[in-house]
Amino acid sequence: MQKLKDKIITEGRVLSDTVLKVDSFLNHQVDPEFSLELGRELAGRFKDDRVTKVLTVEASGIAIALTTALALGVPVVFAKKKRGATQSKSTYSSNIYSFTRQESVDIHVNKKLISSSDRVLIVDDFLAHGEALRGMAGIIAQAGATLVGVGIIIEKVFQGGGAPLRAQGIRVESLAPVASLAGGKVVFAE
Ligand code: 5GP
Repeated sequence: MQKLKDKIITEGRVLSDTVLKVDSFLNHQVDPEFSLELGRELAGRFKDDRVTKVLTVEASGIAIALTTALALGVPVVFAKKKRGATQSKSTYSSNIYSFTRQESVDIHVNKKLISSSDRVLIVDDFLAHGEALRGMAGIIAQAGATLVGVGIIIEKVFQGGGAPLRAQGIRVESLAPVASLAGGKVVFAE
């Protein structure tokens, strides 16, 4: 999506060879109009997949998951993060490791919110090593629901997080695939 790529170039800041900051419009301050455009774009890519629910993880995925769900006309569920929480009988839970924060967290979704008849689209702001994705896919599997695909705003392709799911035949769509951040320069993959 060219408008997104242009915004990343003009407003994004490369903090290191692996971290891109886009706080002005995506994951600290949120641009509502632009988020609607991004959500419509992601929703359009999955419009024929009979999605019944969008799943993300708090907090920075919520804005974009909401606009995607709005465009698809379905509810959005966000997994809640708790550090060191014990597993509860009322939730589906996964443990994920955050490379950016260098900590491990448990994510939880109330069992009442995803059922085996659901066709779930995962949406997130960034895809890096794929830990958040792996955790959400685990929750969908625990619920016996169907994972129909993954919609990502910025995928750092060089960190490899999308590869395992694509290898399983799951569609992973990213609006801005980044091939490299080396030397402070954003290079897009396509
Ligand atoms: P993963 O689990 O794929 O390694 O990382 C995904 C999560 O880490 C995203 O939801 C995002 O919150 C955070 N993240 C990973 N890389 C970046 C980055 O370069 N910039 C920002 N702002 N967040 C990132």
